[in-house]
Amino acid sequence: MTERTLALIKPDGVSRNLIGEIMKRCEAHGLKVIALKMVRLTNEAAQGFYIVHRERPFYRALAASMSSGPIVAAVLEGEGAIAAYRELMGATDPAKAAPGTIRAALGVGLEQNTVHGSDSPQSAAFEIPYFFSSLEFSARG
Ligand code: UDP
Ligand code: MG
Repeated sequence: MTERTLALIKPDGVSRNLIGEIMKRCEAHGLKVIALKMVRLTNEAAQGFYIVHRERPFYRALAASMSSGPIVAAVLEGEGAIAAYRELMGATDPAKAAPGTIRAALGVGLEQNTVHGSDSPQSAAFEIPYFFSSLEFSARG
């Protein structure tokens, strides 16, 4: 089934000049970039994005980290795109991510793990409109 997923390049990825490298890996994996932008989240907007984690001990630090600098947001489309991009990203902890994955290759640590990807159709349905309006898909969608 053709799906859409939200992909983010976190501040640690943007600051280390990894935008091109990460986009290249997405495209090489057969995922189409159908919407794309750079944004700087406020702390409140980052907390809202990660609201499912509000009870977790790392919630505040995560929101602070996600709002510490610009991020790149993209919508990727493809066959089984949600699982395909999760596989391409690798496990949450770069130290445990499989060789060849983005997080294994480029991640710094658990918080600075360089990329985000929706984990289910339900989270994609929340996360994509968090960043993109329908007008922003007009070029390719
Ligand atoms: N995170 C963290 N400490 C933890 C677990 C997660 O700082 O113990 C951060 C990590 O950057 C992760 C994000 O919180 O990407 C969201 O956690 P989730 O479990 O949703 O991982 P993901 O879906 O990003 O793999
Ligand atoms: Mg997650």
